[in-house]
Amino acid sequence: METETLYFVIPCYNEEEMLPLTARALIEKMDKLISEGRIAPDSKVLFVDDGSKDRTWELIERLHRSVPMFTGIKLSRNRGHQNALLAGLMTAKEHADIIVSMDADLQDDIDAVDGFLDKRAEGCDIVYGVRSSREKDTRFKRWTARTYYKMLARLGVDIIYDHADYRLMSRRAVEALEQFDEVNLFLRGMVPMLGFKSDTVSYVRNERAAGESKYPLKKMLSFAVEGITSLSVKPIRLITSLGLIVFLISLAMLIYFFVLWCIGKTVQGWTTTVVSVWALGGLQLLAIGVIGEYIGKIYLETKHRPKFLVDVDLDEEDRRKEEKVNNQKH
Ligand code: UDP
Ligand code: MG
Repeated sequence: METETLYFVIPCYNEEEMLPLTARALIEKMDKLISEGRIAPDSKVLFVDDGSKDRTWELIERLHRSVPMFTGIKLSRNRGHQNALLAGLMTAKEHADIIVSMDADLQDDIDAVDGFLDKRAEGCDIVYGVRSSREKDTRFKRWTARTYYKMLARLGVDIIYDHADYRLMSRRAVEALEQFDEVNLFLRGMVPMLGFKSDTVSYVRNERAAGESKYPLKKMLSFAVEGITSLSVKPIRLITSLGLIVFLISLAMLIYFFVLWCIGKTVQGWTTTVVSVWALGGLQLLAIGVIGEYIGKIYLETKHRPKFLVDVDLDEEDRRKEEKVNNQKH
């Protein structure tokens, strides 16, 4: 296989503290890979500024001006990690043969890319980075993550255990992903749906080197719900079964109380009545809530809103400028 053009896609939200470190690590890696002839010299790093409120975009522009290997796009506003990542993939696929998506915080071991490229050489279209240990995560995070992945698997979602969004995709795979029209994005659950030859490479996940997590508990929870409701309809079915069971129990109760009444034992019944009213009320609210969640999703999907809007594309800007200069020459 001839050497391919690699694009790193790095979503960044308020990462001014991280960016200089990340850029240094990336350029070292890229230089090494290029000099080893593993990737083409026109490979690049594409930063996606997800509507940051700090100096992130300024830094990206500065990087682009000093090293042509760095480029960037700026989204028109903050759209969240998944949308930013998708924006980067869609921009990069115009120029790259293979794309590696990675967080800006260097938690993912950049040297795992060698493994990615080995698998690519073996003909894989998708290579998943998988965390081999979670020692650096808090116990709470480890436990919740494990439980969550298991639950997803139970719900019939095809998900790669302990894989986040550190992965290599070929242009072909990204183009296939583009055909998924949904706005409720949970990329790590969507990519396995693509099929194609894929493999995993495990690596040790580090701590965030600077700055703080952009995923507080609240965002994490809503992302977790997103994962379930955009990939599985099983919760609705579970509720249907639950409803059926509760209904059967109430039938049994009815018969029981009827028999008691027939043999002349009056029911002292206050407790049972109140308990069953509350239990049923609660179940109904829960059921309506879950169904509402899905209806909300349908509502958003029917709008077909764009998932992201690119405000500035540094490479595109350069091309336009060049064109202008060329036109003036003629
Ligand atoms: N991120 C983003 N938009 C957001 C939140 C996060 O692009 O609205 C980026 C962030 O800059 C980082 C990646 O998503 O590159 C993962 O975020 P983070 O490391 O904070 O998440 P954690 O590793 O704590 O789950
Ligand atoms: Mg992180």
